[in-house]
Amino acid sequence: MTQAVCRFCGAQLKLSFADLGMSPPSNSYLEAADLNRMERFYPLHAWVCEKCFLVQLEEFETPEEIFSDYAYFSSYSDSWLAHAKAYTELMIARFGLGASSFVVEIASNDGYLLQYFVAQGVPVLGIEPAANVAAVAEKKGVPTLVKFFGTETATELAAAGRKADLIAGNNVLAHVPDLNDFVRGMSVLLKPGGVVTMEFPHLLRLMQENQFDTIYHEHFSYFSFVVAERVFAAHGLTLFDVEEIPTHGGSLRIYARHAANAALPVSAKVTELRRREQAAGLERAETYHLFAEQVKATKRGLLKFLIAAKESGKRVVGYGAPAKGNTLLNYCGVRSDLVEYTVDRSPHKQGRFLPGVHIPIYPPERIMETRPDYVLILPWNLKDEVVAQMAAIRAWGGRFVVPIPEVSVLD
Ligand SMILES: [Zn+2]
Repeated sequence: MTQAVCRFCGAQLKLSFADLGMSPPSNSYLEAADLNRMERFYPLHAWVCEKCFLVQLEEFETPEEIFSDYAYFSSYSDSWLAHAKAYTELMIARFGLGASSFVVEIASNDGYLLQYFVAQGVPVLGIEPAANVAAVAEKKGVPTLVKFFGTETATELAAAGRKADLIAGNNVLAHVPDLNDFVRGMSVLLKPGGVVTMEFPHLLRLMQENQFDTIYHEHFSYFSFVVAERVFAAHGLTLFDVEEIPTHGGSLRIYARHAANAALPVSAKVTELRRREQAAGLERAETYHLFAEQVKATKRGLLKFLIAAKESGKRVVGYGAPAKGNTLLNYCGVRSDLVEYTVDRSPHKQGRFLPGVHIPIYPPERIMETRPDYVLILPWNLKDEVVAQMAAIRAWGGRFVVPIPEVSVLD
């Protein structure tokens, strides 16, 4: 039970979706000198609103470090840049954007996406609250407003005659504390014939594939398509198209327009996805209750495996130090007595320790030196890559294990 209310509709939150206990911020890796210091832990408990079915974290004292760490995500990979470039080409072709259009990206980071519109001669504006990150964008020729986005910023831009033909937002919707103010702002900023696109992890995939370890403190909301439709509709915006894309374990890219703009008809994909979500039970409280039970069963399964391995004298180590691993290991209370160490290719993580559970992080070569029996793959979304890269462990009979959707030893 909680006193909290839904950040969209205001109903009291009563139904637990995933209670992951107390957890440190997922990117707060520790130096050796930090190990004897006090660490900050915050409740990591997702609830579902039984009235509108928005899955959300209860509001908690917002730690500054969560937001300062957010800037850390700006180190985009080549594949993410390719994703951004392909998006740009798609939007220009589909909506006929050119020199007289205006594209705004919310949480534009270092200009990783808008730079491709600039290269095509399309005027842009980035909106980014982190000044140091915005400065990097400006250097790339991406004009950037250093602000949080909401109704106030949107009203100022609209009053200055700067309404947008396209508003883009990748992985920002989940991070917004005041959801209504944010979506209302997009409605204010959007030209009558304009289009909004937003990308976010898809709740249907999270539930079907048991990806509860992708619940982090900085992700306040978890959307199904139906709930996104409901939230946008409340602010006069209609979702007229949707694509399912592979990023972050399965995401949606939604397309919104003003409800009055009949020039953009609603695609059959919208109806089809809505029907699929309803068939999966996403509009029934019972489905969310079953998920909460499944999360607990997953924890017991992982612990059973680790304890049995330990008792039969096997050595278990981890592979990777992703944020999702921190959620999982803290929730399950797995420390170096069960998983001796983990390895990561990032030199920034090597020599440090996972937050909360204090498991040490080494370079991947450590596995070749210590020849463990099991390698637990924490970034399960990169399973195939890890198996290919570490195939040499089979030489001494080493085996790979994935924790999600349920603990299983790979053949
Ligand atoms: Zn609600």
